[in-house]
Parts: sequence; C-alpha cells; structure tokens
Amino acid sequence: MKELGRKQEVKKCVYCTRLADTKDHIPSKNLFPAGMGPKNPIIVPSCVECNHRFSRDEEYFRYYVCAMTEEYSLYARQVFFSQIKRSIWRKPQIGFKLLKRMKLVDFRTETGIYLGKATQIKPTKDDWSRFSNVLDKYIKGLVFHELKDTLPSEYRIRNNVFLTKERTSDIMSRAKSFNFKWNTNNKDIFMYGFSFVAGTCKSAWITIFYNSILCESLVFTKKDLIKLGINIDGHQNYWPS
Ligand SMILES: [Zn+2]
Repeated sequence: MKELGRKQEVKKCVYCTRLADTKDHIPSKNLFPAGMGPKNPIIVPSCVECNHRFSRDEEYFRYYVCAMTEEYSLYARQVFFSQIKRSIWRKPQIGFKLLKRMKLVDFRTETGIYLGKATQIKPTKDDWSRFSNVLDKYIKGLVFHELKDTLPSEYRIRNNVFLTKERTSDIMSRAKSFNFKWNTNNKDIFMYGFSFVAGTCKSAWITIFYNSILCESLVFTKKDLIKLGINIDGHQNYWPS
C-alpha cells in the first residue's frame, strides 16, 4: 500500500468511488510466493478504508485457494507451506472442512462454454461471503483496468467457483469463440479472460488461480437481474445444478 504521487490527478476508489489515497494490487500480492512479484502488476486506485476492509477476506481467500490447489500447483504449495503454514498448524480441521465441500459436476458456464468435468466448491455461507467479497473486488479492479472507469453502482456481480483439472489452454481456446480476451502475464498464479457487451459494463469474466481454481463472474445491471427474477441484494449464492 503506497501513497499516490502528488502529481497524479484526483482519482476515485474503484471499490467505493470515494477519494482514492492509496493503490491496490489485483490480485493481492499475497498470492505470489515470497520473492516473486507479479509481472506487469495491475494497480488500481483505492481508498485506505477499502484497502483495510478487504485484507482479512483476502487472507482467508488465499488460505482457501492455496489449500484447494497446493496438490496441483507448485506455486500454491509454496505459498501454502511457507507463508500460511503456521495458521494451518493451529487449525488443521479447515483442510478437512474444505474437502467436504467439493463435488464433481459437468461444468458449463452461463455463457455456454463447456468446460468438462470440474469439482464444484460449495462453501458455507460465511466462506462464500468472504470469497465473494474478494472476487467482487477483483472484478471491480479489472473492470477499471480494462475500461479505465469505475463500475457504476447499478451493476451487480455474480460469481461461480470451480476447481478444475481441465488444461487451461483448452478453456482459453473454447472461450475464444465467445470473444474472450486474455491476460496471461502471470498465468501460473493468476490469469483472467473477459468479454464486454460493447459500450456497457455488462461483461463475463473468467479468473483462474494457480491454473486450478476457476471463477466465473457475470456483471449485470440491477435491471437485468430484476427481469431475470434474481435477488439483487447481497451476494449471489448461485450454484449451477
Ligand atoms: Zn474505497
């Protein structure tokens, strides 16, 4: 967290649109193993409050994501066993809890991309609210990064989370027919693809952590959700059946 340079123009926090007085990284730097920084880091303006508000959720998110993927990703394992080992030693039951929340499903995204078999992660309501806070935050940051504008308040984000053994290159090639653009600068840790409805913030996002956890986020307007009969308040506990 650094202060913005004085010469920079006044910027709005990408999360709450108040005055931004710090910067924030997308994704959080804590997902990178010690000594390995992101290539071409994505940095967005943020206020101090938002920067602090999310830090506990981000710690939890990292814990969750690394516990799920350390079996598949060297980097996740590195983070898991070096940086968060101590908290695991204190609470080993969390690993077992996570395993119980997984189930194998056919995975087709709402935009229609078939992604094969994937393990669906069904966290508890509390887990989900933390997880979703972080995903919402990342999507808001990425919208800003791609459009150079903050997401207007009439927009809502819905997230789905999957643990996938599919090769990421297959997912990317299937998403190509849906005109997804990809940013793979830090592909072994975090990559994302997106597609906007032209001239709007309506968009579909795929974020992939450690080549194993795949999150699909859809950005709708409140109006669209009402039309679809979907609750517009709070987090969307949406799981495809
Ligand atoms: Zn803020």
